[in-house]
Amino acid sequence: MPVMPRPSILSVEPYVGGESKVPGVNRIVKLSSNEGPFGPPPAAIAAIAEAGREAHRYPDGGATALREAIGRHHGLDPARIVTGNGSDELLALLILAYGGEGTELVMSAHGFLMYELTGRWAGCHIIKVPEKNLVADVDGLIAACGPRTRLVILANPNNPTGALLPQAEVNRLRAGLREDILLVLDSAYAEYVEDPGYDPGQALVDAGSNTVMTRTFSKVWGLGGIRLGWAYGPAAIIDVMNRVRGPFNVSAPAMAAGIAALSEPDWVAKSVAHNSAWRARLTEGLEALGLKVHPSHGNFLLVDFGSAEASKAADAHLRARGLIVRGVAVYGLPTCLRITVGTAEECGMVLDALAGAGSPVQRRAAHA
Ligand SMILES: *Cc1c(COP(=O)(O)O)cnc(C)c1O
Repeated sequence: MPVMPRPSILSVEPYVGGESKVPGVNRIVKLSSNEGPFGPPPAAIAAIAEAGREAHRYPDGGATALREAIGRHHGLDPARIVTGNGSDELLALLILAYGGEGTELVMSAHGFLMYELTGRWAGCHIIKVPEKNLVADVDGLIAACGPRTRLVILANPNNPTGALLPQAEVNRLRAGLREDILLVLDSAYAEYVEDPGYDPGQALVDAGSNTVMTRTFSKVWGLGGIRLGWAYGPAAIIDVMNRVRGPFNVSAPAMAAGIAALSEPDWVAKSVAHNSAWRARLTEGLEALGLKVHPSHGNFLLVDFGSAEASKAADAHLRARGLIVRGVAVYGLPTCLRITVGTAEECGMVLDALAGAGSPVQRRAAHA
């Protein structure tokens, strides 16, 4: 008999990240992982280099300075913040601690894939609730919860759809869930949201004992490679996360990078202004080509090419020109591609490629 993992582990498909290479193409423009167009904040680059000089020392396992910096920046109690090796780690800790064999995890049909992968690792039964026009359906989510449901996880805005669930609906979701169901609000794209009524989760966390918000330095902060995320929650849940996390789960360079990034003047404002302007221009350009673009509140667009074949052809066409975007068939959206809002030049390259000679989009428009 070979050694075997728990049976549910073998149902986990390894996560496939955004690609970064095309054989035979020199200049690659990577628009497949929503990484932000400006690189890391300069202050973070310097802090990472500086932290290297002390790399023989273990990091502060309590991440005190980082949690205090995050608390100051967001107006939150540092004692109720836990940091992690990306928010993916924190989501996994929550799922493993509150889910597990014999429990159910409820998510929206086109919600972030890691919830399902980690949920299966934990042994949870995954329930995916159909969406309405690619937006999470609150009544459906509430109705899907049964006696064994322990977790509901919602990305707001959601990746890969870009959809924003209005705040009243998020509140209604929490109010409609049993008290013993943990609601996890994954606010990875919070900084990009311009809706004045939006709350990334702080208010709902503070209003009860069963909601947690997760955040990341990987998107607007440009630090995906450093692996840094954080969660804000009720004291009892933060206590659980501190029990189950690795004692040194965030490296010293990651902590230094996070603290420095928060001190970078105007970083978020600059990034958000660029994103709003170019998300709009990219949307217009794509719509002018006859494509359907779903309204996005993140730094990416979900673009519908009309059929799985057309989306594959567009993907191949872009790829041959070094433009790597994200196929989202694994999200149940085979007719779509997800395109990160890059620099002005990169957005122009995408539009030029799709409008240019030999583009499958052009051909489709010509036949229409
Ligand atoms: C990118 C992303 C994350 C993961 O971010 P890390 O902090 O890099 O682990 C989590 N949730 C959503 C919805 C994301 O798009």
